[in-house]
Amino acid sequence: MDIEQPPTEKRYDRPEGDRRGLVLVHTGDGKGKSTAAFGLALRAHGRGKAVKIYQFMKVPSARFGEHRMFEQLGVPIEGLGDGFSWKSKDLEHSAQLARDGWARAEATIRAGEHFLVVLDEITYPLRYGWLPLEPVLACLRERPPHVNVVLTGRGAPQELIDLADTVTEMTLVKHHFNAGVPAQRGIED
Ligand code: ATP
Ligand code: MG
Repeated sequence: MDIEQPPTEKRYDRPEGDRRGLVLVHTGDGKGKSTAAFGLALRAHGRGKAVKIYQFMKVPSARFGEHRMFEQLGVPIEGLGDGFSWKSKDLEHSAQLARDGWARAEATIRAGEHFLVVLDEITYPLRYGWLPLEPVLACLRERPPHVNVVLTGRGAPQELIDLADTVTEMTLVKHHFNAGVPAQRGIED
């Protein structure tokens, strides 16, 4: 697409396919994967659609900005984990939480009562070997066709990328952490 000049003709052909639920993946090493998933959740909520957010690496009691905002909006957001892995004293416990959490998320996706289900940071339990990939792929393949699912996290497995409809890689150009700026409320959490 030429971005040096304003467009003079339509940029896309009229789509020929039917509307249907999508699998969207936000991966890559740059910041913005979860942020963009929350943005989609807001957009869907704005359209009056049922949204459910699961966070695989956040604790159930987390009170970050997103939890406060979605609580005000009445959008359910649920932490399924025990924080990031380097804090996990008991990795087997983390793995069990991930499997229990997945069972909840899978039931929600298969039930088909939500327009959008966010599986935030699900790539980490997949990569750590806490969750097997095949049941996740099977659930996505077999889900009711109107259900949209967003999966986030670095290092998305190739099989997930292959199955997805839309995959965005956040490219690390710069990150303020590398300049020593700590995590800040309203930006990181
Ligand atoms: P965010 O939640 O801010 O959208 P993210 O979902 O893209 O970030 P994760 O891989 O989930 O990123 O990482 C979680 C934490 O790591 C966040 O605090 C995020 O700001 C931080 N982070 C993201 N990208 C980078 C990076 N390139 N270098 C260092 N820290 C990063
Ligand atoms: Mg994230």
